[in-house]
Amino acid sequence: MMSPDAVMRKNEDLSVAEALAQVLGHIQALPPEDAGLLDALDRVLVDPVIAGDSLPPFANSSMDGYALRAGDVAPAGRESPVTLRVVADVPAGAPSPVEVTSGTAARVMTGAPLPAGADAVVPVEDTDEKWRSRVRALPEQVSIYRSVRAGDYVRMAGEDISAGEQVLEAGHVLRPQDLGVMASLGYSRARVVRRPRVGILATGNELVPVTAALTPGKIRNSNSYAQAAQVLAAGGEPILLGVAEDTEQGVRARLDSALELGVDLIVSSAGVSVGAYDVVKAVLEESGSVAFWRVRMRPGKPLAFGTYAEIPYIGLPGNPVSAMVSFEIFARPAILALGGHQKLRRPRVEVTLMESIRSDGRESYVRGIVTKVERGYEALTTGSQGSHVMSSMVKANALLIVPEGVTEVLSGSSLTALMIDRAESI
Ligand code: AMP
Ligand code: MG
Repeated sequence: MMSPDAVMRKNEDLSVAEALAQVLGHIQALPPEDAGLLDALDRVLVDPVIAGDSLPPFANSSMDGYALRAGDVAPAGRESPVTLRVVADVPAGAPSPVEVTSGTAARVMTGAPLPAGADAVVPVEDTDEKWRSRVRALPEQVSIYRSVRAGDYVRMAGEDISAGEQVLEAGHVLRPQDLGVMASLGYSRARVVRRPRVGILATGNELVPVTAALTPGKIRNSNSYAQAAQVLAAGGEPILLGVAEDTEQGVRARLDSALELGVDLIVSSAGVSVGAYDVVKAVLEESGSVAFWRVRMRPGKPLAFGTYAEIPYIGLPGNPVSAMVSFEIFARPAILALGGHQKLRRPRVEVTLMESIRSDGRESYVRGIVTKVERGYEALTTGSQGSHVMSSMVKANALLIVPEGVTEVLSGSSLTALMIDRAESI
């Protein structure tokens, strides 16, 4: 039984949705910058992309074959080939030096400009040229075994994109194909929202660097790696601030170094619960602000959000799973929003739970494995849900959301799963 006092305090804590709304309410998209094309991948385009040229820029052949006048080969067939005089050999990369007139043809390769006078191409397979037997010399004449219509096997200038056309709109998130089309239009840079710089701080006297020997009572600082990787995966630039000891001065010194490094968001782990050494909240109260510090979620109830010297600050709980899940729910959308993204949510799928699970009534994010079955998706948990059990995070490809107020979900019920792996499909 919870005491009435505890119930009241609990009700003062924010729901996940309320807490996320507060976080996003403090976040504005960063200013734009010019980035090299490859550095623009996955970032948000600020100005629309307008085609300066047409694509293709000139009419060209879509096949290796012979450019000719369709009218010349109207009667051609397997049994009644039409023979034309070959007047030019046109590889890709240069225009034909001569015109194709009636009764003549020019050998063309894929991508070669269509010679003046020609209006169609006949693929080499429909001619008598023995290209398969590696005869490469230009024949004096060629026999055509089929008819074509004007325009056949010709890619017209501007057929794909015409000059002046808007190809990508502002706000678009650049994908490989977008960068490809921009390159084909002569763009070597893109105007995109600046990449968020996210300071990553670990706190705790028990933490040692990954490379140091473990002495009694110490553990390796794993959170900084997990959170830095989460920042990268969300399109941010992680700025590692090291480990602060559990004192206000220790935390403040590291945060001040973050300010000098010009971060857009600070994410720390640990030091936000109610233990004697949990100093993060005190530092924020003194040198910034605390908007909230508890959320009705599991794992990860203590979660501080506020500012340090005007910079948005998310204080994650210390337990590695709680830190990762809280990052996923609050810091990832914040980083995406800083980066100018509109779509902040992971893909979600409805799953059938294949075992029964219990919850404590808080909105719970249960590590799960979602698999595709014939009709929809099935989910199992990854086993032990202790907030220190990283191995069960490693097995998970999803977080199964048990809604607030629900204490038991029976096998066979349906739940929403948040797909946390990078791949959107399973
Ligand atoms: P705290 O929030 O400070 O009470 O920490 C909760 C738990 O998370 C403790 O067992 C800490 O040792 C652990 N922890 C805190 N920070 C880290 C970190 N950076 N890497 C791994 N474990 C951590
Ligand atoms: Mg601690």
